[in-house]
Order: sequence, then structure tokens, then C-alpha cells
Amino acid sequence: FAFKGCQKIRGAQIRVLLEAKDFFLFDCDGVIWHGENEITGAAKVVNALIRRGKNVVFVTNNSTRPRENYVNKFTRLGFTDVMLDQIFSSSYCSALYLRDVVKVRGQVFVIGCEGLRRELLEAGIPCVEEADDPDATIYNCDLTPDVKAVLVGHDDKLTFLKLAKATCYLRDPECLFLATDNDPWHPLSGGRILPGSGSLTAALEVASGRKATVIGKPSRFMFECISSQFSGVDPAQCLMVGDRLETDMLFGSNCGLDTMLTLTGVSQIEEAQEYRSSDLSTNHSYVPDYVVDTIADFLPAFEE
Ligand code: PLP
Ligand code: CA
Repeated sequence: FAFKGCQKIRGAQIRVLLEAKDFFLFDCDGVIWHGENEITGAAKVVNALIRRGKNVVFVTNNSTRPRENYVNKFTRLGFTDVMLDQIFSSSYCSALYLRDVVKVRGQVFVIGCEGLRRELLEAGIPCVEEADDPDATIYNCDLTPDVKAVLVGHDDKLTFLKLAKATCYLRDPECLFLATDNDPWHPLSGGRILPGSGSLTAALEVASGRKATVIGKPSRFMFECISSQFSGVDPAQCLMVGDRLETDMLFGSNCGLDTMLTLTGVSQIEEAQEYRSSDLSTNHSYVPDYVVDTIADFLPAFEE
């Protein structure tokens, strides 16, 4: 039992698994693409699953784009059948959370990219407008009185002033503190990395003495969004495919889904094996049920 999981599967075993499941959840970066490039074979796999009548959805912690941009990206990369309602991004799910769960009344102060703000506005959630005043400082800037939530996502135009304003808003215990995701960093090509929004959230957690509510993986909320938009989703019929143990595999475990690690992204099989042999039982939630080198390993299963 201590060595349950991490099963490297191939050939006929993959075919049996794909036939057994009817709902596939794919992480994007590291599984489907690397940045702007398709992971070879991913489009063929996704197209084949959809054509066989399987349900396919995408769950990404990337909050920087609205869903329409993902539809365009899928099309551009050769995924012919992916539609808006199959895309669950941390920005879209944050908008649903603010609108439908906490029913926020008032404005949201957003640390994040334009795409995150666009997704919120589309859901009818008013965001604080950022004034473009180069002389503004925390001493002379205006604070908006009716800010009812601070939402932190990936922000490539982060400034100290934004952090300072967010910290001020968070002094009000009635002001919610949300994070699109808690990812620590992201790989870029050439061995470089980007700090993830988890690092920005950590800064605000220290400054405010509060803990953010995380919307994206590994939190269960994205699966609740999927369940409420597709009728009759049975966790036992789902397979969550991802490349990062601490987000994707934990998300799958948290939601009661079978999990598969692909080795085209962040996590290595040795890390999964380490979690598997750990004495700490909470570490077992990071262990994938199955491991493949790449989702292109699914392709032979579609051949007659
Ligand atoms: N957030 C940002 C800003 C990213 O660049 C990435 C990956 O490139 C992610 C999140 C992680 O996305 P995913 O959950 O699809 O791996
Ligand atoms: Ca990923």
C-alpha cells in the first residue's frame, strides 16, 4: 500500500484507461503546450478524445488571459474542436467566485494583467481603475472607499504602489482577500523562470497578516465550477492530467479524481516517488496514480 500510485503506463494499459474514463481534465502549460508551442501530438490527442465523444475540459492557473484568448490559441495550435465552455482558467473561476459565491457588492482591487480585469468586467464585476499618474505615491494617491475585495494574480506590471494600496485595503476585515492561484514560479524556455502569483500573494500575506483564499488549483473550486456547468460529472469517471505535483495532482486528489502526471513539464518522476515513500501521509496526495512521458503516448490508443 505504501507504494500505491506512480504507475508508468503505456500501450494497452493507456487504451483501457481512456476507455474507462469519460471526463478528461487537462492542465495547459506543460501538458498541452509550452508557452506558444504545442507539445507534439497534444492536438491530435485532444481532437481524437472529443471526436470519440469524451468530455474534455482545460484547467489552467494562468490568469493573464480571458477565455476567448484561449479559444484562439487552441485554434491557432491546431486544436480544432475546443470551445469557450471547455475552458476553466483561474481568472474565469475568480470572476464566478466573486459573482456567484460571495456576491461581492462594491469594487474589486486587482493586482493582475489586463486579461484578468477583462474577465471580471465581463462577469459584471466592477474593478478599481488604475490611474496612470507617475507621481502618485501611497502618501498622495486616492484610495477607493468601496473596495470589497483584493484579488491577486500574475502581474507583469507590478509596482510597489499597487502592493501598498492592496495592503491598505486589506486593513478592513470586511475586504476579501483572494488569489487566482498560488503557483510559486513558472518555467520559461532556456532555463529561466518567472515568479508566479504565489510570490505576490505571499508578500501581501506578510504585510496584512492575513491568508488569501486561493481560487485556482489545488483548491477544489475549479472542479465545482466544472460540475455546475456540466451535468452529472462523476469524479470516478474523471482523469486529471497535469505536470505539477503540488498543483495538478493535489487538485485531483482534493476532488477525488484519478490523476496522471506527464513528464513534459515541471515535475519529475523522482519527486513523485519521493512523495510516495514519505512517512507523512499528507504527502501521498501529491502522488499521481499514473505517469506517462507525454500525452502523445495516448495516440496509439486511437489507432484501430
Ligand atoms: N500563471 C502564469 C502567469 C503562467 O505563465 C503559467 C504557465 O505558463 C501558469 C500560471 C500555469 O499554467 P497551467 O496551470 O496551465 O500550467
Ligand atoms: Ca502546468
